[in-house]
Amino acid sequence: MSFVTVKNLQKSFGSNTVFSDINFNIAQGEFVTLLGPSGCGKSTLLRSLAGLNSVDTGEIWVGEQNITDLAPQKRDIGMVFQSYALFPNMTVANNIAFGLKMKKLHKDEIAKQVARVIELVELKGKENQHPHQLSGGQRQRVALARALVVQPNILLLDEPLSALDARIRKHLRQQICDIQKELNLTTVFVTHDQEEAMTMSDRIFLMNEGSIVQQGSAEQIYTQPHNEFVAGFMGNYN
Ligand code: ADP
Ligand code: MG
Repeated sequence: MSFVTVKNLQKSFGSNTVFSDINFNIAQGEFVTLLGPSGCGKSTLLRSLAGLNSVDTGEIWVGEQNITDLAPQKRDIGMVFQSYALFPNMTVANNIAFGLKMKKLHKDEIAKQVARVIELVELKGKENQHPHQLSGGQRQRVALARALVVQPNILLLDEPLSALDARIRKHLRQQICDIQKELNLTTVFVTHDQEEAMTMSDRIFLMNEGSIVQQGSAEQIYTQPHNEFVAGFMGNYN
């Protein structure tokens, strides 16, 4: 059963076609990675799923709903970017609560939900700190908590680990996988890093120059590459 269905999606900026003929299905609870070299269109595709940019043609369905033209705030989606995009003058708790305040939830409910996700991302004790007092890994966990607090049915992660040093990256990688499994949350993760894709994903959608060139499990893509690009790109993994 497909939960997220994308049909014939195409996006251009002016005369530059960023991606075209994008088709895929994602099952509920699946962890899918959009993998590919820099500039191949991963972020633009992810932003299209979030509604942060429009598409030229094609459709995006979530369950029974066509969300192609739905405003971002009406999509049930949480997103984390490479750079944290936290509000510098707000505490950790207020950064996380922001989306719930926009929804005008009762303050007791907001406190309960914020406490829930702070526990989930292991930031207990940091509630009243400001972003500049946190490490890069901790800031990214705040960003993750902020995406999760609204209980989205899809989580989109755009290279959330790329700005972090290797040791923290490994730890946060595991934490993301643990949380994703615990919540059984349908997740689309973007990276240019083969190792991240190989170790984290149920399935990989490998992109090149605006096309998905192969979809499959890490093992399938690694052992049965459909073409030279796939073989070469995955061959760099070691
Ligand atoms: P990736 O995330 O795989 O590195 P992007 O989706 O960021 O790739 O970019 C793919 C292409 O789309 C690039 O050629 C980039 O210059 C172009 N692009 C992305 N965003 C915009 C924009 N807002 N306006 C014009 N061109 C853009
Ligand atoms: Mg990108």
